[in-house]
Amino acid sequence: MQHGELFDKAKKVIPGGVNSPVRAFNGVGGTPVFVESGKGAKIYTADGRTLTDYCCSWGAMILGHAHPVITDAVTSASGKGTTFGIATPAEVRFAERLVALVPEMEMVRAVNSGTEAVMTALRIARGVTKRNIILKFDGCYHGHSDAVLVKSGSGILTMGSSSSAGVTDGATKDTIVVPYNNLSAVEEAFSQYKDSIAAVIVEPIAGNMGLVKPLPGFLKGLREITRKNGALLICDEVINGFRFSFSSYSSTVEGVDPDLITLGKIIGGGLPLAAVGGKAKWMKELAPDGPIYQAGTLSGNPLAVAAGLAVLDELESNSPYSKLEEYGLKISSGVNNIAQEFSLPIHCVNEKGVFTIFCTKEEITDLVTAKKSDTSLYAKLFHGLLNKGIYIAPSQFECNFVSASHTMEDVEYFTASFKDVCEEIKKEAEGGR
Ligand SMILES: *Cc1c(COP(=O)(O)O)cnc(C)c1O
Repeated sequence: MQHGELFDKAKKVIPGGVNSPVRAFNGVGGTPVFVESGKGAKIYTADGRTLTDYCCSWGAMILGHAHPVITDAVTSASGKGTTFGIATPAEVRFAERLVALVPEMEMVRAVNSGTEAVMTALRIARGVTKRNIILKFDGCYHGHSDAVLVKSGSGILTMGSSSSAGVTDGATKDTIVVPYNNLSAVEEAFSQYKDSIAAVIVEPIAGNMGLVKPLPGFLKGLREITRKNGALLICDEVINGFRFSFSSYSSTVEGVDPDLITLGKIIGGGLPLAAVGGKAKWMKELAPDGPIYQAGTLSGNPLAVAAGLAVLDELESNSPYSKLEEYGLKISSGVNNIAQEFSLPIHCVNEKGVFTIFCTKEEITDLVTAKKSDTSLYAKLFHGLLNKGIYIAPSQFECNFVSASHTMEDVEYFTASFKDVCEEIKKEAEGGR
């Protein structure tokens, strides 16, 4: 079925025609793609096209689509009952696995989404410190719960104002927003709100304003400042976790040992599964042992946990990380060389196969610099690549992901197509002079 027709039908019954806003293509224009199925690095659209997928469900599908290890695990689990609302042996195995693999995760609780994991982490931080304020970074995304749906004001240090209708001032008045990579703003916040800050929450590598890396010393600095001031450090690794190595990202950065960590996306193997964990002394404060309430009908359900265990097993026995690194470098150096060749204001930021093609030459260190990107040029790149059968993120301010199923052929096709698209863009610009 044609995507335009599907989108028209969808808009009648689903707000905006989509179940999550970025899918509507508002960032790039045009009609959104509808996927019928996927296999490996390919997705098959409802209008009969085959696309190579670099969204990979926002990184969740690190193995690629319909990987046999996952489908076998899910198929076998589904015949045994998909949820009981009673404890199961598999969820114990899953928790043991995470605790063994992620050093800062001494205890863990399974939830259904990254949003829920972060919401719980913030509640734990406020509950154990008996303080109210959360400090977050502009451009880091932590799900759609009220306290983190905030945008910065005009100053370097601002109490967040709500970035969504329906979020009350009461829900955001205790959230401070400062620029990513700016330690002095964090220090200023602590000097102003000294004994009121419960936690600093950060994406160790930011993945929700495009890929933005931490400057040397930034994460370590956050650890030192929070420790000195009796606040918790929460690493939101919903994208980062198990993406760059077979563990958390923070555990690989010297001197960063967060109090709490959230995982999601990859650890669910493509099912709704996320986790909040950290130091046992904090995690023990959760109900039923402690006074901090948290619960979930489907939390740790056997279907999701089977997929989670399967993805971890596969990542361990068949490590993709050196391949992801190699392919990521190949794409980013290809993109950067081609941008140079056509003198287009484009550069690619890459970390082990997670990459963003920023439409600016300027170095990106935070949301303000990320926003210097030319989003209309990005839209041209997006549609140019889509015409050639390549699906990248339909927004400048997102990451693309290489999966274990991508091949060198895919990667070479990517750079060759990128070159063609740049050539078209250049010709069009010259033609229009
Ligand atoms: C995706 C994401 C979330 C939210 O996870 P959902 O499963 O979409 O609720 C939270 N934090 C980060 C860093 C994310 O990338």
